[in-house]
Amino acid sequence: MKAVVLDRFGGPDVLTYRDVADPEPDPGDVVIRLDHAALNHLDLDIRNGHSGMTVTFPHVLGTEGVGDIIALGADVEGWEVGQRVGTFAFRTCGDCPGCRAGRENMCARVTTLGGQHWGAYAELIRVRENQLVALPDALSYADAMAAYKLATAWEGLVETAALSKGEKVLVTGAGGGVGSAAVVVAHHLGAHVIAATGSDDKNEKLRDLGAHEVINYATEPLADAVARLTGDDGLDAVFDVASGPNLVAGVRALRWGGRAVVVGAHGGERIEVDMVDLFRRHVAIHGCGRYTRAILESVFRMRCDDLPKPPVHETFPLAEAAAAQRVMEGRKFFGRLLLNIG
Ligand SMILES: [Zn+2]
Repeated sequence: MKAVVLDRFGGPDVLTYRDVADPEPDPGDVVIRLDHAALNHLDLDIRNGHSGMTVTFPHVLGTEGVGDIIALGADVEGWEVGQRVGTFAFRTCGDCPGCRAGRENMCARVTTLGGQHWGAYAELIRVRENQLVALPDALSYADAMAAYKLATAWEGLVETAALSKGEKVLVTGAGGGVGSAAVVVAHHLGAHVIAATGSDDKNEKLRDLGAHEVINYATEPLADAVARLTGDDGLDAVFDVASGPNLVAGVRALRWGGRAVVVGAHGGERIEVDMVDLFRRHVAIHGCGRYTRAILESVFRMRCDDLPKPPVHETFPLAEAAAAQRVMEGRKFFGRLLLNIG
């Protein structure tokens, strides 16, 4: 098969598009012929050697892909060759307290496609049978690929923050893949959506997605802008993609009993929070790193009904994965960057 292979850590130039051996399914495994894959910031961290994951070379990046099953290992039940599926990025142990409680996104021994295992920047991928999600017939591969971050947004906004209709929510990093999906979900829930981004050219696009207000924190401090928009009421919730100063400002702007959800930390892995303010005002900060297969299945179904499509900035051929990563590093994109493999 063709794959985009990483032989050492470094910049985008270390990615090479070449032939590697086809994966064979071990017992309990399934091999998928991929039609689309997607980029994540995690790919850049792994490529740069900053992810903290143990990576062995040669390696293939990519946590998410969609396609059709071409081979089943021994003992695989309930799946068929030809079936349209998406990958569930997380390989769980099935045996830790989180797994036993049915909370697979809380698995203490989780490993990740494209991290510890070869990922989706390839024509074929091998996954465990419990890393499969069936795609609805009505959802194209490209639309399914674009829908993945709705699962992160749903886990954060619905399952974790319990955001409800009429509440005011701040979404940081709103122009990125996860942030734009969070704007879509928050608007779908009937919340009053304040989208924060670092450039004016995303303003109209965010309003089109459902943002009621757009803040450019490159030109106005986030805390000042939120205070201007919410007055004494404050925010009910914050969906934060990157931690750092934006999370600090968001937490301070929460009303009494408000809740913040953090799904990433590229903006600053250490922050200073006033714990006196936190307990006095009953403010909560929740971590939210992963979603479950059930959530992914659910957002695929909702995309077939009334949940709008999150934005895709550009789709690159698999062979041009390095060019796609350069766009992600340049930060001048809106929504997701995808790879077309089929
Ligand atoms: Zn587990």
